[in-house]
Amino acid sequence: MVVTRFAPSPTGYLHIGGLRTALLSYLWARKNGGKFLLRIEDTDFSRNDEAAALAIVEAFKWVGLEHDGAIEYQSSRLSIYQEHVQKLLDEGKAYKCYMSREELDALRSEQMERKERAKYDNRYRDFTGTPPEGRDAVIRIKAPLEGSITVHDGVKGDVVFNVADILDDFVIARSDGTPTYNFVVAVDDALMGVTDVIRGDDHLSNTPKQIVVYNALGFTLPKFFHVPMIHNSEGKKLSKRDGATDVMMYKTMGYTPQALLNFLVRLGWSHGDQEVFSRTEMLELFDPSDINRSASVYNTDKLDWLNSHYLKNTPNSVLCELLEFHGITLVSHDKREILLDTIKERAKTLVEMAALINEVLVRPIAFDEAALKKGFKEDSRAVLENFATVLKETSELHLPSDYHHIMEKVVTDMGIGFGKIGQPLRVALLGKLSGPGLDSVMAIIGVEETLARIDALLKLK
Ligand code: GLU
Repeated sequence: MVVTRFAPSPTGYLHIGGLRTALLSYLWARKNGGKFLLRIEDTDFSRNDEAAALAIVEAFKWVGLEHDGAIEYQSSRLSIYQEHVQKLLDEGKAYKCYMSREELDALRSEQMERKERAKYDNRYRDFTGTPPEGRDAVIRIKAPLEGSITVHDGVKGDVVFNVADILDDFVIARSDGTPTYNFVVAVDDALMGVTDVIRGDDHLSNTPKQIVVYNALGFTLPKFFHVPMIHNSEGKKLSKRDGATDVMMYKTMGYTPQALLNFLVRLGWSHGDQEVFSRTEMLELFDPSDINRSASVYNTDKLDWLNSHYLKNTPNSVLCELLEFHGITLVSHDKREILLDTIKERAKTLVEMAALINEVLVRPIAFDEAALKKGFKEDSRAVLENFATVLKETSELHLPSDYHHIMEKVVTDMGIGFGKIGQPLRVALLGKLSGPGLDSVMAIIGVEETLARIDALLKLK
């Protein structure tokens, strides 16, 4: 069975880079009928970060990724780690090191002077004497002294690390007994039965250390997939300055979860030239061995494009629900179908949709001056008055086409071009010269409101 996991360190919110690896892990587990686990890596054991976990769960809920089983907190697994440290000590695969801070600092400066890598010198590796008085010990694992460690990575291929360049007998438990990061990750992944570790390639250099732990404890290695980072347009790691990094900000900005997930799956993975993937297609087509080898570039235009695609294809009933979050309540609006059909073609985000809806539904409180000047000419009063008269005389006005016919009738009767009615009417209805089709706007707001808006403009002029 394929078991994957998402293992965030609690930062208070779910990072979009994190959501990307979570999504890939989720897809791979679900595709294989396996399990997707959630583990909070709160290795700062002084706090069990409930709030951070809640933020992640909230974001998972929003995008619709479910994890299997209960959330695991490393902070509640301390005794398990201690047991495994003890096991290694008992088997002679780890040992107590009594080096003092001063000794460690002295070693570091000597190595720096010799321009060598900072590295523990194994002085307690085979120590059998009496420990120095009053010194606390850290526990170090016996790492290989020479040769290489190869990470068989599903994305990058075989990555060979030269032991002499990257390893030493690293600390697995501090003097207060708390275990260290690479130790607990390896122990947890092994004990939780994780078969496929999909994570950011900023963790690649940790992997040899974790492999040392796996080997020492006799655990079977998982498959590793290190996903290249998301970069900004300057080729640097994505930061808050390049766009929102908190997943829930995307909800606030009016993106749909489908668009965000589609955007993220494409940041790092591709299937030919295809850009739009439904959840079903993602599940069908995703394979971690197709993850791109090079960094992907964050591009808001792409996200906007995907979002407008999804908005256009979202049923109006669902749009109504989504818009509630942005302060728009349309459930009882009898023309909501026309309204949403008109607006969803024009908006990139739900925030833009909400603004456009307000522009239509709320009577303008002011008229854009330039629009007035350009749109309201000498003959405009007569045109609008005629239009209002015909409107009042006509019954059964419902559809945009009904209103369109009246506009046509007025221009024909008056022998004028369409712009002569379109421009002043637009100013009257929307306060400006841009916006959705006027026939739709009138069908949405109805005869009475149309007349009231015309009247308001005529009173002003
Ligand atoms: N806790 C690590 C992080 O948030 C992830 C570790 C892993 O996936 O192995 O960056």
